[in-house]
Amino acid sequence: MRICTKCIQPNTRPGVFFNEESVCGACLWEDEKKKIDWAERKKELEIVVNDAKKSNAVYDCVIGVSGGKDSTKQAVTARDELGLNCLLVNYQPENITELGRKNLENLKSLGFDLISIRPNPKIMMKVTKHDFFNYLNFVKASEFPLYASTYIIAEKFKIPLIIQGENPGLTVGTSLTGVGTDSDALKAYQLQTLSGGIQEYLDIDDVTQKDLYFFHYDVQKLLDLNVKGIWIQYYLKEWSSTGNAEFSKKYGFQERENIKPEEIGTYVPFNACDSDVVHVNQMLKFMKFGFGQCMDHVCYDLRDKLMDRKTAIDLVLKYDGKCDEKYIDKFCNYIQISKDEFYKTIEKFRGDIWYEKDGIWINKLHEQLKKEVDSL
Ligand SMILES: [Zn+2]
Repeated sequence: MRICTKCIQPNTRPGVFFNEESVCGACLWEDEKKKIDWAERKKELEIVVNDAKKSNAVYDCVIGVSGGKDSTKQAVTARDELGLNCLLVNYQPENITELGRKNLENLKSLGFDLISIRPNPKIMMKVTKHDFFNYLNFVKASEFPLYASTYIIAEKFKIPLIIQGENPGLTVGTSLTGVGTDSDALKAYQLQTLSGGIQEYLDIDDVTQKDLYFFHYDVQKLLDLNVKGIWIQYYLKEWSSTGNAEFSKKYGFQERENIKPEEIGTYVPFNACDSDVVHVNQMLKFMKFGFGQCMDHVCYDLRDKLMDRKTAIDLVLKYDGKCDEKYIDKFCNYIQISKDEFYKTIEKFRGDIWYEKDGIWINKLHEQLKKEVDSL
């Protein structure tokens, strides 16, 4: 197994790449960032923005938002810094938290037009259940409408510019996938989770093509209309998880209060505040690949030089993959399965990163990290 020598990301993440010195793609991007001529990027962005303003559309740009730290930053930046007339599009997740609702209301109250899209909850439940049993990644299905709704609205309203936040190809270093590392967000359908398409959902009982209208967008139609899509992260020097949270808090964004890392599997309070079942999905990721949300967050903090390696490893060993039973109950209730069925299913997906010793499952990644921290 390979662990990045700069952050502590393992090579068990699907699509991640490493160079010969065992530095992961996300850390390579961090180095790349230092060499970027940001003044030049700003000029590139100005051209994109000016083109958008020249169109006859009512809105200059459309932005997909959840009300979270990244989308608040995107919307405020697009309006106040770039002077764009924005239409916000919100895909409303199932089981949205009270805090998620509050943050979305806060974003609207900052002065934006917003369209909210919520695909049929009965269909959402079926596809979520399908993804749990088939991939042990039940948020996969929701990522289709999360992305596509913004693109569909751009097409319907003939809005010349789509602004997305960060390109996962850059942030988590998975640019082995078709999405690439450039600014072009029209390629979002090639993201790791979306590239398989939606065809398989049509095999679920009573799910039809029409039910999945908000699950996919037509790139060709957008190209024909001259619509451009950008990852705004590509153009902004100041773009980081913690930085965006600090920025958005000044505009009323609220993070989780009094978090218990042993219940939610991370020490970070400002991530995915609109969902509680996200903790469950991260725990499932931990079963498959040996790392969860805490790993992602310490890696962000290592790259931003907000944490040292030892602290990062300690946090991962302590909290990664943890998820309180109350969230698991909530999820099981939602897809209407028993806890017994839940645990039986996740056991089937336990990845190669685990081995059994005296009846106990040992995580090889943790073993290796523990060795490293003991030798420090
Ligand atoms: Zn790394």
